[in-house]
Amino acid sequence: MNIIQLSKSIYKYEFPAGSVLKDAVRINVWLVLKRTDVYIIDTGFAEMTEELVKYITALGTPKALFVTHGHRDHILGVHQLAHMFDIPAYAHPLEIKQIENAMAPYPTSEDKMSGMFKELTDEIVKEAGLQSFVTPGHSPGHTIFYHMEEQVLMVGDLFTTTDKQLLPPIVRFTPDMTESIDSGAILDEIKPNLISSSHGEDLLYNEELYSQLAYFFRAE
Ligand SMILES: [Zn+2]
Ligand SMILES: [Zn+2]
Repeated sequence: MNIIQLSKSIYKYEFPAGSVLKDAVRINVWLVLKRTDVYIIDTGFAEMTEELVKYITALGTPKALFVTHGHRDHILGVHQLAHMFDIPAYAHPLEIKQIENAMAPYPTSEDKMSGMFKELTDEIVKEAGLQSFVTPGHSPGHTIFYHMEEQVLMVGDLFTTTDKQLLPPIVRFTPDMTESIDSGAILDEIKPNLISSSHGEDLLYNEELYSQLAYFFRAE
């Protein structure tokens, strides 16, 4: 596991491809500090929590969990972390609905995710110094998180990224790619400094990034 400090208050924990589960892609999760409170954005697989816990507690007091969406690779650690720290977990209501339905690529009933999540609100997100935006397509209630002060945008699976360009999310897990690419237009409204995705490299924003993605990947 690699730890990268993205800005004053934001840490990214990167689990390289294959480091936790043999076939898994690289998975990034984020910790956002607000004074001594720690907000956790996505958790990865349950196998990742043991290492994660050490760093969460070293940083401060765990306060709440937010998830970008309910796919397995983003939330399977929620069960353990929420219980261990006795903190609430929040997701967009459309994602909660999918999680309750328990159909792949969401966790199944064996993963015991039912009833784990409360509805994400602007108020709770604001307490963390963040703003959230709903960006459907990859999943119905996919949500991205922006740290206004430090201008870091955590995009989940809205994009995959290299250190130079934006790519679409993984096709196999994206029911509406056109909607997802359209949702990505929010990037040019936010104009962050740094973009950090769940399965790729971090990159600096520029005004060409989104138009290139839309040009190459948006189906007409
Ligand atoms: Zn996903
Ligand atoms: Zn993912």
